[in-house]
Amino acid sequence: MFFGRKNPFSATDAFPLSDAVMEFDDSSSAMVRPARRALDGMGPRSGRSAREKWLLAAGLMGLYALAMLGFCALGMVDLQVLAVLGVLVAVVCATFWGIFNTGLHKNVRHRHLKLAMVATALACMLGIVYLAPVTQILLAPFTFVAVAYGIFTVPRPTLLALAACMLCLYAGVVGLHYLEQQNNALLRLEALHWVALAVSLPAFIALMGRVQRLYRSLYHASRKIKNIQEDAQRDPLVGCFNRRYVLAALEEQKQLADESGIPLCLAVLDIDHFKRINDELGHLGGDEVLRTFARIAQQGVRGGDVFGRYGGEEFLLIFPGTSLLPALNTCERIRAQVETHAWTGLLKGRVTVSVGVTQYVLGESVLEFFSRADTAMYMAKEGGRNQVVVEEPVAKGDSQLSDLSISSSNAFL
Ligand code: GH3
Ligand code: MG
Ligand code: MG
Repeated sequence: MFFGRKNPFSATDAFPLSDAVMEFDDSSSAMVRPARRALDGMGPRSGRSAREKWLLAAGLMGLYALAMLGFCALGMVDLQVLAVLGVLVAVVCATFWGIFNTGLHKNVRHRHLKLAMVATALACMLGIVYLAPVTQILLAPFTFVAVAYGIFTVPRPTLLALAACMLCLYAGVVGLHYLEQQNNALLRLEALHWVALAVSLPAFIALMGRVQRLYRSLYHASRKIKNIQEDAQRDPLVGCFNRRYVLAALEEQKQLADESGIPLCLAVLDIDHFKRINDELGHLGGDEVLRTFARIAQQGVRGGDVFGRYGGEEFLLIFPGTSLLPALNTCERIRAQVETHAWTGLLKGRVTVSVGVTQYVLGESVLEFFSRADTAMYMAKEGGRNQVVVEEPVAKGDSQLSDLSISSSNAFL
């Protein structure tokens, strides 16, 4: 959101934060999310992509291929089988890679395709067992690896059904071997392998069910914590950052500016005659105006800028790494967009915003910085509203704040 951020929740000396913000009730947070989504609609979603997870599966296949290479080196498997395995791995990798790259996986319910991957791996291993019976030694351990790969996402009954299918196919391979070779010793050995797998695999899946439940409850708990953390930063009405977050951000950006010397600007935005809007439309209508205003402003700022609600119909906009002129341009753009927005009915042409903007002076306090932007906003009100006023920064040590203010009305820029 903005760079260099470590702890956005710490209170500051200049702005001690209310304890009430800490008493957060997650049950009400669902109300915040639709508004937040409306504001965040364009943002990328976090989380590991299905393609990355597929790379893990490919790595496991690589392990199996490595073990087969060892068999080949020991002279237990001939090169033809190794070549078949190579082709199988290449085809499977290319197929799944293609599916994830083209986005085809998004059309299915379980887009991670874990079940398909586990089933494909088991089928490939059975094929290799058919070609080289000695590789049965690898079948059991790698079957457990494949099942463990899918255990957190594929439902237990589905995995049990898959295990049953796999055991049937394995029995078929054993039968084919006997039909082709009439080798009783091989049949006994393969039957032993089959029985061992038939007993241990369902037991493994059943036991792993407990781990699966634990994983799911941890997953839900971490999702809940993440939502609580996000909601604690958001304004419940409009969905943008709240006062607590934006003030903590201001404190942190001030420190960054002090350390690095990069410019920093701040704007205070106040909707004009909002009381009248409330009086005419009622508070619900006023709330809708606040939400629309926040959306317009949020869409008008860069990814690194921090926009949040200070309180009532007042908002703050922090411009990290930005000097006064670009900050002023952005404020003017937002002012113009608010004025020309297609407001409905009574509101047409009557929703405007007054903005005060200033640049941080190295070494000053957050309170001084904020007061200057606030003063500029009040000057915009006094100047007739619907305008942007710049309060020129004065280097620390100079006597007073500069009274040179630039009025940026419709004609500005
Ligand atoms: P000015 O142009 O000088 O800023 O006038 P104003 O009417 O916008 O400012 P004033 O401070 O007189 O009134 C602000 C109003 O904003 C009063 C208050 O009822 C209303 N308000 C504050 N918070 C909310 C809110 O969350 N929802 C709604 N609908 N109204 C709110
Ligand atoms: Mg106002
Ligand atoms: Mg106000």
